[in-house]
Amino acid sequence: MTTAPSTPGEVRERLARLQSQDLPVHTGRTLAYVYDSGLEEVDRVAREAVAAFAGSNGLDPTAFPSLLQMENDLVAAGLRLLDAPDGAVGTVTSGGTESCLLAVQSARDSRPDVVGPRMVLPDTAHPAFHKAAHYFGVEMVVVPTAEDHRADPAAMAAAIDDRTVLVVVSAPSYAHGVVDPVPAVAAAAAARGVRCHVDACIGGWVLGYAARLGREVPPWSFAVEGVTSVSVDLHKYGYAPKGTSLLLHRSSAHRRPQLFSSARWPGYTMLNSTLQSTKSGGPLAGAWSVVQLLGDEGYERLTAQALEATDRVAEAVGSMPGLRVVAPPDATLLALGTDDDLDPFTLCDEMAARGWHVQPQLSYAGTPATVHLSFSAATNAHVEELVAALRASVAAARAFGPVRVDPGVAEVIAALDPAGLGDDDLDALLVAAGLAGGGDAAGGAIALPERMADVNAMLDLATPQMREALMVAFLDRLCRPSS
Ligand SMILES: *Cc1c(COP(=O)(O)O)cnc(C)c1O
Repeated sequence: MTTAPSTPGEVRERLARLQSQDLPVHTGRTLAYVYDSGLEEVDRVAREAVAAFAGSNGLDPTAFPSLLQMENDLVAAGLRLLDAPDGAVGTVTSGGTESCLLAVQSARDSRPDVVGPRMVLPDTAHPAFHKAAHYFGVEMVVVPTAEDHRADPAAMAAAIDDRTVLVVVSAPSYAHGVVDPVPAVAAAAAARGVRCHVDACIGGWVLGYAARLGREVPPWSFAVEGVTSVSVDLHKYGYAPKGTSLLLHRSSAHRRPQLFSSARWPGYTMLNSTLQSTKSGGPLAGAWSVVQLLGDEGYERLTAQALEATDRVAEAVGSMPGLRVVAPPDATLLALGTDDDLDPFTLCDEMAARGWHVQPQLSYAGTPATVHLSFSAATNAHVEELVAALRASVAAARAFGPVRVDPGVAEVIAALDPAGLGDDDLDALLVAAGLAGGGDAAGGAIALPERMADVNAMLDLATPQMREALMVAFLDRLCRPSS
């Protein structure tokens, strides 16, 4: 980056060049990370709103009353969609992770009497909860899911003890796209006086409108007794620009421990409802604009399209050799499993080569690796192309054969203790795993290969602890100042 002054035209051109390296945000061909309504007007209005409020500060709701108004409007819309009772409240956060973090923090701080607080969660819960446990010193009690990939209510109930401050379920889970048995788990939590959070970050907006469309939706919202908080991302299926999620609580008493004030310094009195203090009004204004522009009818239409795309692809997968849907989808997410002759990671590479971006999910706790697809409304218009690409990718990946990791390398990875690895070991491993260019790896010589199947196959052999150590080392080397 140059430090000499540039013209606006030069800056715009450089931005465009940088952005051209990224995954496409609009075309419905990226089936993770982005959610595309396919409506140009929605994107334009959102962009204008983000720009208009980019400099406004949500730090102080009295100084920027417009932001307070927009937040209260969005919370009201969320509460209505999620069958919340009178007296329910909520907060707009920066994203799903912040909503989950705050749900855990407020549950912990609602029980100052508990020494060594714990939370009970299924093994399919999003890692945002692992992060919350790590940040806030809450011990995780991870409960294996049942055969159908849903939380096991009896096992969850049995895991609740006197130190449990929170029980977590998903609606739906990211990895398999199925809704946990919320009523049974929430009842077990309520019987012990424990909070129950429903993580509907990805699916909440879809499930709410799916129910209005007359679709059979397993109970998951505030309509279920015992549910004390729900997280729903607007920047996923609310089709809002990145940077907004809702954390909704059954009552203001449930939210109280989330609110923070400090007057113990000589500056302004700090008063926050989120982890952030100074926060841009841009994402909030963007989400508020999109929710108004679309309205209930718009969301019903987009939800119907995303559900239709999911169902059409799920059906087509049934006739593809070696490929199957892991669990019948409850919303707009699919996990695809493969047989031994079809390598899921090669399948992802073959899809990418055809312009479709799907996401590899590594094997975990005895369940084999899968391929993840999150369907946007915009994808529905291109389902035939998607199915053709998938069919061709399956054929190509089968012809290519399974990815073979060098048995020597596999043995080394399996034998290593990640806790005992030094920086040099990690450098060598990153090179061996194809995650660094070799030579001056620590100096930032990161060049990812075009095809990721070999990298994923190697990671797949490693223990979760080893994967984490490698990923953290990778990120450390990736994030170095430009030279
Ligand atoms: C995406 C997601 C999150 C985390 O949300 P971010 O917006 O990525 O921080 C949490 N839970 C589930 C189920 C998700 O799909």
